[in-house]
Amino acid sequence: MNSSLIGFPRVGKLRELKFASEKYFRKEISTEELEQVAKGLREMHWNLQQDAGISHIPSNDFSYYDNVLDLTVLLNALPESYKQLGLSERDTYFAAARGYQGEAGDVKALAMKKWFNTNYHYLVPELFDDSEIKLAGDKPFDEYEEAKQIGVLTKPVIIGGFTFLKLAKCKGSKTINDFAEDVANAYIAILDRFNEQGVEWVQFDEPSLVTDLTQADVALFTALYEKVLAHKGNVKVLLQTYFGDIRDSYEEVVGLDFDGIGLDFLEGKQTLALLERHGFPADKTLFAGVVNGKNIWKSDYKKVIALVNGLEKFSQDIVISTSCSLLHVPYTLENETSLAPDVSRYFAFAKEKLQEIKELTELIGASGYENKESYLANQQVFSAERVYEDKHVQASVASLTERDFVRNVPRTKRRAIQKEKLQLGLLPTTTIGSFPQTKEVKQNRSKYRKGDITKAEYDENIKGFIKDCIELQEELGLDVLVHGESERNDMVEFFGENLAGYIFTEKAWVQSYGTRCVKPPIIFGDIRRENPITVFYSEYAQSLSDKPVKGMLTGPVTILNWSFPREDISLKEMAFQIGLAIREEVLDLEEAGIKIIQIDEAALKEKLPIRREEWNSEYLDWAIPSFRLCHSGVRPETQVHTHMCYSEFEEIVTDIDNMDADVISFEASRSKLTIIDALKANRFETEVGPGVYDIHSPRVPSVEEMVAVLKNALTKIDEENLWINPDCGLKTRGIKETRESLANLVAAAQIIKDAVSV
Ligand code: GLN
Ligand code: ZN
Repeated sequence: MNSSLIGFPRVGKLRELKFASEKYFRKEISTEELEQVAKGLREMHWNLQQDAGISHIPSNDFSYYDNVLDLTVLLNALPESYKQLGLSERDTYFAAARGYQGEAGDVKALAMKKWFNTNYHYLVPELFDDSEIKLAGDKPFDEYEEAKQIGVLTKPVIIGGFTFLKLAKCKGSKTINDFAEDVANAYIAILDRFNEQGVEWVQFDEPSLVTDLTQADVALFTALYEKVLAHKGNVKVLLQTYFGDIRDSYEEVVGLDFDGIGLDFLEGKQTLALLERHGFPADKTLFAGVVNGKNIWKSDYKKVIALVNGLEKFSQDIVISTSCSLLHVPYTLENETSLAPDVSRYFAFAKEKLQEIKELTELIGASGYENKESYLANQQVFSAERVYEDKHVQASVASLTERDFVRNVPRTKRRAIQKEKLQLGLLPTTTIGSFPQTKEVKQNRSKYRKGDITKAEYDENIKGFIKDCIELQEELGLDVLVHGESERNDMVEFFGENLAGYIFTEKAWVQSYGTRCVKPPIIFGDIRRENPITVFYSEYAQSLSDKPVKGMLTGPVTILNWSFPREDISLKEMAFQIGLAIREEVLDLEEAGIKIIQIDEAALKEKLPIRREEWNSEYLDWAIPSFRLCHSGVRPETQVHTHMCYSEFEEIVTDIDNMDADVISFEASRSKLTIIDALKANRFETEVGPGVYDIHSPRVPSVEEMVAVLKNALTKIDEENLWINPDCGLKTRGIKETRESLANLVAAAQIIKDAVSV
């Protein structure tokens, strides 16, 4: 059986590309030195795949920053503002990726957006009325040649024209349809070059096919490929899809002259049903995505083999493949030195997945495969009893009833009780939680980790930071205070480290964008809170002030969305387990005298399914209850806040209101009357604090501009319901700008308070 890889991680085993790029940005190494590192990585990755016997090895999956940006350059669609800087080719590219400020000029980076339902971010192509789309680069051809030089015949990979158009933002009066013809011609030119090079297969990635498509979208796709495929010559074209199924276009896709079609059998819930219903053409190769490209768990060979065997009735010509590019998993388990063997044996990162594919190709179709060593070893993992099981937690989740998800006093009644109890007055001011992570704050954590200071010394220092933080807020005159989060590196990692069932890796980095990588913790077993996590800090902070100090927690959906989840239980089950753990923390905080508790759900929207019809059934129907579970047990006078980072949640405003929090703060400073309109239109009940300034910039906002933002907000939001706060936590900011910004915020708030009270 043949095998294919959609793409391989490019940052390197130890993030070599990231470090080389950063050196290059600091001008510590030359372009040639950076290119040498890149070349070395590509060579290593091709060899790894060759050694694993992969039959269709990708090239051009490498990128210095982002594949969508590579395509934008290849199609001559880089905006003039970057070209006009007159920089070298490499630096023009990086200017578009990161922005540029220097002698040559001052331009912002292209906008960045989440790549479908992953945590990878791409740079959004911009199309202007005078953009001239045509083939204008050599990267895919050069990389094919480079691999060939070292004896590896590859399958060049390029994001397809349809996905390019769907992701692009039109900046002028033209629409994407106006560019379709030129895009088709550019891809014809690309195929011409591959023909000249004698390339056997080329892969066009069209993940946009798994999104909800209109008839016009499908028509655009069909017209594009009818044109392109008429010129494919001797090159075989693989249409690769991933992150879901192609239910809106399956019949059109199989009717086109592709030589191979790549389908996702893991995330594509309807992929099998589509094959059942419409069959699969005998003249095409089915590239079956059966090894998970997104998660870090070993494949269960029994299941994969059964799946592939089941496909043989549809096609005689099957190639097995990963479900998506391996870009979304860490490089290798070899980097992990401290995982217990009964833990690590469950995992397969990118390099280990190559081995899985190799073994699977040997097992599938072989007689007596059930007795082969690789099969037996794999099955042993899945038959063994799982460590870190917790029957108690499982029972608690199983016994949850309707009542566990509702606060017994409805929100409007609670509001009156809370107003009375908290005595905050109109338009209270507050912050989102974290205060600047100064050098001292970071050193305290790293010293403790290294064992240079004891836990007692560490906590003493934290108390010092909390004290400073409270004093600063008192001095500024904020109404609701925070403890500053100086004990946290990251809002998810901190809780993960304090929950049984979590596993941490040392070097399991995954590219988030460009040179930025994240190291998500792994949910390994059943989740349980062993001890109070934040009570000590919150209680101490509250003891220093007569004003309310918010308890500060991360919610279950965000914790889950920023972790690698288990595959043996449902997301809902995990969310409820985490919800129960946070609930215990909430109740302990309340018991300790904390009157306001904020449960952040920064990432609530992140895993919203790609398909609208699945939003509720697959996600919101458990995500919202898991949040409610956290706070349903508190007394009516305890005020529950939440915070969200993405302002684009107009479409789920009602669901957010259903979280039944008392107050929500969110990012809205960079514009967005739209969201406030949506709140009004949906009769949003939760009190709201739309951020009045952008914390992502070091710029200090003036009193006047915040007054203007607030006046504007008051035209749509009742003054009884409005809170005044920055748009997110302050941890990335410096002390000086924070002090000045918050002083201005309090001054602006005072002006507005005076105005409304007369
Ligand atoms: N409470 C967190 C903080 O203030 C929230 C962070 C976030 O929303 N990303 O840092
Ligand atoms: Zn935020």
